[in-house]
Amino acid sequence: MNDTQKPFSRSFNQPIIIEEQGPRDGWQVEKKWIPTDMKVAYIHKLVDAGLTRIQVTSFVNPKYVPQMADADQVARAIIKKQGVVYSALVLNSKGVARAVDAGLNHLSVSLSASNTHSLKNTNKTIEASKVEFADMVRQAKNAGVAVRAGIQCAFGCRYEGAIDPNLVLDLVKHHLDLGIDEISLADSTGMANPAAVRLMMAQVVALAGELPINLHLHDTEGKGLANLLAAYETGVRQFDTAFGGLGGCPFIAGATGNIATEDVVNMLNQMGIETGIDIVPIVEAACHFETFLARKLPGKIKEVQPSGYPNPQPFPQ
Ligand code: ZN
Repeated sequence: MNDTQKPFSRSFNQPIIIEEQGPRDGWQVEKKWIPTDMKVAYIHKLVDAGLTRIQVTSFVNPKYVPQMADADQVARAIIKKQGVVYSALVLNSKGVARAVDAGLNHLSVSLSASNTHSLKNTNKTIEASKVEFADMVRQAKNAGVAVRAGIQCAFGCRYEGAIDPNLVLDLVKHHLDLGIDEISLADSTGMANPAAVRLMMAQVVALAGELPINLHLHDTEGKGLANLLAAYETGVRQFDTAFGGLGGCPFIAGATGNIATEDVVNMLNQMGIETGIDIVPIVEAACHFETFLARKLPGKIKEVQPSGYPNPQPFPQ
């Protein structure tokens, strides 16, 4: 058995883990204010469906992301279930401190593999971002918080086009050297394809050893589920999804966001891959949120099997 096969075969025996991103990646782009108690009710409902990981908010400047202005209140108000990982996205040292204060013990920190995206988003080059990134990891680890280290635009950037896979793998090594707890690659733009995912993730699996590997997928070009399956076949067992397929641009009709939690669960169920997640409450949450937004969300299964979910239960009650 060579080095590439070892983690590969280990990963294959691990159960699949879905991390719900709707409350963060999904809601952050919504202009309509979602009341704090409603956010908390959704988080409770999603966890009750069997999700064991959920990104509940993002500790960012509310000037730039007004929907996340109640991050501290949301994190504090959640009634936490044992065995569930409640995480948040943080972008700087202040965010780490706020998240720790709010009682979260798992944080997602990331930087971009695209220099242009990095400059536009954070006003920093990749190299400059690395310095701040390392500081944030240290700060979180000192506070006893687990860190998921991410790489945005790992499969392409709308400004730069293709991203050099070697640059991404260098960032993976950079992250691993910092003593992080999980590595995550993000197809932030939905530009990945199954062949690229297979090639990249097999190399990440070989580099990461025993460390959990996560893949964050967007369905922008309709390749989300295919990309998930390609990564699954390399041994990756952790995926980000959002109920209803939230996370697309709210102003473009049909613009798809993250891969939809219920569609992923549906596909895996049909393949005989156990997720431990009940699809019905996820579909209920998606249908209810469509009513709140007064617009359709891109998730598929809620549309093609309406008879399976005849009366989504109203909530919060
Ligand atoms: Zn995303």
